[in-house]
Amino acid sequence: MIDLHTHSLHSDGTQSPGELMAEAASVGIDVLGLTDHDTVAGYDEAIAAVPETGVSLVRGIEMSARHEHRSVHLLGYLFDPAEGIGEHCVRLRAERADRLYRMVEAMDADGLLTWGEVLDVAGQDATLGRPHVADALQARGVVASRDEAFATLLSARSPYYRPYRAPDLREAVNLVHDAGGVAIWAHPRAVARGGAHSWESIIYGLDLGIDGLEVDHRDNPPEDRRVLADIVTERQLIRTGASDYHGSGKLNRLGEHTTSPEMFEKIAYKASMEVINP
Ligand code: AMP
Ligand code: FE
Ligand code: FE
Ligand code: ZN
Repeated sequence: MIDLHTHSLHSDGTQSPGELMAEAASVGIDVLGLTDHDTVAGYDEAIAAVPETGVSLVRGIEMSARHEHRSVHLLGYLFDPAEGIGEHCVRLRAERADRLYRMVEAMDADGLLTWGEVLDVAGQDATLGRPHVADALQARGVVASRDEAFATLLSARSPYYRPYRAPDLREAVNLVHDAGGVAIWAHPRAVARGGAHSWESIIYGLDLGIDGLEVDHRDNPPEDRRVLADIVTERQLIRTGASDYHGSGKLNRLGEHTTSPEMFEKIAYKASMEVINP
């Protein structure tokens, strides 16, 4: 079983990379992709867990980008973090923290939440995002769940919402490719969270040189998965499937969608960095 999209507590997952690798082993996963939002901070711990868990590790990332004012999540695999992408992540993490602070500052003025409460739930060096504010609001009893927080105080229509500057899609794709990595558009038709991209945008992304699409993902409606699969086949690109596991932060379960060995080989062959095997 190959699951190439998961999160640890270095972004908005709820387990350390070591715990994530151990759980992957326990549910029968052979190859795990660690793809925290805009950070590679989990790599060392995940690498250390390879021998004892027997799980092969694909070092990855889920990069925040924008196309036509909408947020795009771009998965990058097996790139060299010593290239420009590494510095980019450091800058973007600072930008994300600043933006989140401005959101919480406005909430604090209304007596809803303090920055200290957000840091308490986010931990030491997570890529900060709205899910952490959602958890802090839940811990205080302001909302009952992450979903409720996203539907109300954290929605893009909320008075507390603030945007952050993310690179445009072309720049994000180049950062991955210039570092020798493979770029896959994550959950391109994720409707549930207002994230479905037009077919035109998806084609534009592929014309930029994106290497493939995350077809099999719970947030892509089944009828759209068929269309996405056809596009990938026609263009001889890479089709992936994955869980987008966030520990207890989301309902997604490890291994609920997977990538075929054939497609995994394509990624490993194209990329400059090695898969780490036990
Ligand atoms: P941000 O990057 O800070 O704007 O927050 C967006 C992140 O929140 C993305 O990683 C989404 O996967 C996540 N997200 C969006 N909606 C929800 C939700 N209802 N519950 C949990 N996480 C969500
Ligand atoms: Fe996330
Ligand atoms: Fe995502
Ligand atoms: Zn994700």
